[in-house]
Parts: sequence; structure tokens; C-alpha cells
Amino acid sequence: MGGTIRLFKFNGIQVYLHFTWFLVAAYELSRGRGIYSSPIYAAYEYLALFGIVLLHEFGHALACRQTGGTADQIVLWPLGGIAFVNPPRRPGAMLWSIAAGPLVNVLLIPVFSVAVWLTARGVNESPDLYVLMVWLWRINLGLLIFNMLPVYPLDGGQILRSLLWFPLGEIRSLQIASVLGLIGAVLLAALALYLQVMQPIWVGIMAIFLISQAFTGWRYAQALVREEEANRQARLVPTVPREERE
Ligand SMILES: [Zn+2]
Repeated sequence: MGGTIRLFKFNGIQVYLHFTWFLVAAYELSRGRGIYSSPIYAAYEYLALFGIVLLHEFGHALACRQTGGTADQIVLWPLGGIAFVNPPRRPGAMLWSIAAGPLVNVLLIPVFSVAVWLTARGVNESPDLYVLMVWLWRINLGLLIFNMLPVYPLDGGQILRSLLWFPLGEIRSLQIASVLGLIGAVLLAALALYLQVMQPIWVGIMAIFLISQAFTGWRYAQALVREEEANRQARLVPTVPREERE
């Protein structure tokens, strides 16, 4: 875990924070978006974003354990979080481990809706609190939509892979998902640059991350192909000479 600090341990799951998180936090907070009258609310917003991502990652980790897999690390870094999950090699276990993350964001929609409704009633006394809740509602939905894009290794891409695993098997499903991931990452980066929704530096970092992970997925699929081939060869070659068997 290079460049990370240990935050806390919950239910045997160690949460790490990558040091770049502080750089981006300082940058984001100094930039300010001018939506709050009190600047402390920008800090609250960033901390809440961190909380939403953390809950999402715990969704993955706890679901993975439910399937009998191992999950004992979560790393938070500026582009989000990574739960290191290792579910059993079954499509159903993989599907539940991945789907549980976005499901947390789905469950947060009514929570933030109630918070928006409650703070709207006191908007004259604390307008910043209302604006914060509106933004958290949007950020949560934005994270859900982004994560559900069918671009491997995003959750949507991994869900697609798990669904393809049922009819096509472990290898073919990963090959298809990782190729779609490579194409999707390039299209996503082009779209983000075109719409100017993110700064080019972040688009670049996101694209490099997605492409390298999709490529890792492809290489893993090829390793599985070789493993299967080796197993087939082993079955073809009789281990005991014919004479001895008879
Ligand atoms: Zn996720």
C-alpha cells in the first residue's frame, strides 16, 4: 500500500487513504465554486463525497464476504475508491459483489431526498445547508450513473461481465467486457473533453486508469485461456502407461 495512510478498521476491513486525496482536496477547496456563502460548506461537501464513496465501497466489500469471498482492504483516492474484493469464481458471487456498490447509491437517493425536503423548509435560516443537500443529492446520482456505465472496470462493465459469464463462461465474458472497456474508455474521454465536464488533466488520468485496468482484464483473460489449454493437454496425455493400466 504505497503512498497511503491507514484510516480505520471496520469489521476487519482496513480503510486506507491515498496521499493524493489531500492534494486534490486542497486544490478543490481553494478553487471554490462560489455556491456557498460560507466556505466551510465546501469542506463539508468534500467530506460528504468521501463518505458516499466509502459507503459504496463497503457495499462491495460486505457483499463479497457474504458470497464467501475475501475483502479486507478499501483504498480511497481522488477518483473514488477501490474495494479489493476477491469473490469465489462464480458469476452469481461476482454479480452480487459488484452490484452491491451501486445499490448503496440507489438507497441513498431517498435519504438525500428527505434531507433536501427537510432543509428546504429551513432555507431562510440556513441556505448553505439546503444547497449542500441539493449538491449531495446530485453528486450521489452522478456517481451512480458514472459507475453504471458499461465500461469495464467500472461497476456497470463488471456487472455486464458477470451477466455474460452465465451463458458465455468466465473467459469469453471477460474478453468481451475488457474490449468494450478499452473502446468505452476512449469514447468516454473524448466525450468528457468535448463537453468540457472535467478538466483535461482529470480526463487524462481517468482514461489512463480505465485503459490500463481494461488491458489488465484482457491479459487476465488470456492467462485463463493458457491455463485452460494446459489443463486440456494434461487430460490428453495419459499419466499412467497403457500396459500398466491393463
Ligand atoms: Zn463500485
